[in-house]
Amino acid sequence: MFDSLNDRLSGLFDRLSGRGVLSEKDVDEALREVRVALLEADVALPVVRQFMTRAKELATGEAIIKAVKPADQVVKIVYDGLIDMLGGEEPVPVNLNAVPPVVILMAGLQGSGKTTTSAKLALRLTKFDRKKVMMASLDTRRPAAMEQLKLLGEQTGVDVLPIVAGQSPAEITRRALQSAKLQGYDVLILDTAGRTTLDEALMAEAAEIAKISNPTETFLVADSLTGQDAVRTATAFHERLPLTGLILTRADGDGRGGAMLSMRAVTGLPIKYLGAGEKVEALDVFDARRIAGRILG
Ligand code: GDP
Repeated sequence: MFDSLNDRLSGLFDRLSGRGVLSEKDVDEALREVRVALLEADVALPVVRQFMTRAKELATGEAIIKAVKPADQVVKIVYDGLIDMLGGEEPVPVNLNAVPPVVILMAGLQGSGKTTTSAKLALRLTKFDRKKVMMASLDTRRPAAMEQLKLLGEQTGVDVLPIVAGQSPAEITRRALQSAKLQGYDVLILDTAGRTTLDEALMAEAAEIAKISNPTETFLVADSLTGQDAVRTATAFHERLPLTGLILTRADGDGRGGAMLSMRAVTGLPIKYLGAGEKVEALDVFDARRIAGRILG
């Protein structure tokens, strides 16, 4: 993650810290390098602009130059700017404050990692939060997707709503709700159907499911490797679905981090988790401070 951003910034900060006193010009030059580094990392341009305006305000000459360690001040400005960009707040991974069964709706494009992530989240809630979790697949057009969730259920030890052929996504949703209620489940994770592209039918179906199930959390799962496309996907989904958060998958293979760094600022939605591998345990709670720390090395 953040290979080039990390290299560039740590190189820059090493050079600065060797210098002692910085001039206003030095600070300007350093911030310009930060700008290039962010653009190279595929961060959305408006987000970079916002970052620069804020950083320049904070770096207004004297405060930095008169500081005991001006280079450290520059690092701090960049660190604070990154935290801001990433959402800033303490990590609040999932809201379970509702009458059980708490519904978590999972949406996303096909191949984004939605089904795997549903199982990863179910496992986390079972293991760490000691919740009784049920999962249900609503992907009636792709029997393979339903089978995949069933297998993931067996692998993780999480219950999956039995598959009944011929039911519509809305019917399965109602059956899942009733079953979860009757059997005393704390959480119901609904894995909606994915599509290869954004289309109206996909959106309408997900919106209908949301209306029926009244989810406490509606997560969009997006592939971080697709960079700014992931950001556009999230924006499009958010126009139709009241999303409450984002989960970015394949963070383990994302060398640039552009989607991760732009997502929050562009969509206004918090990133809740990062998919960090193919294994069912590979789901990390998103923590802006950890990410910013990692970028600055
Ligand atoms: P869906 O079509 O959106 O439900 O996608 P799947 O859950 O079937 O995932 C597609 C592929 O991506 C599978 O091979 C997963 O193992 C893989 N995958 C999902 N999340 C991650 C992740 O965070 N990291 C990596 N490396 N692979 C992932």
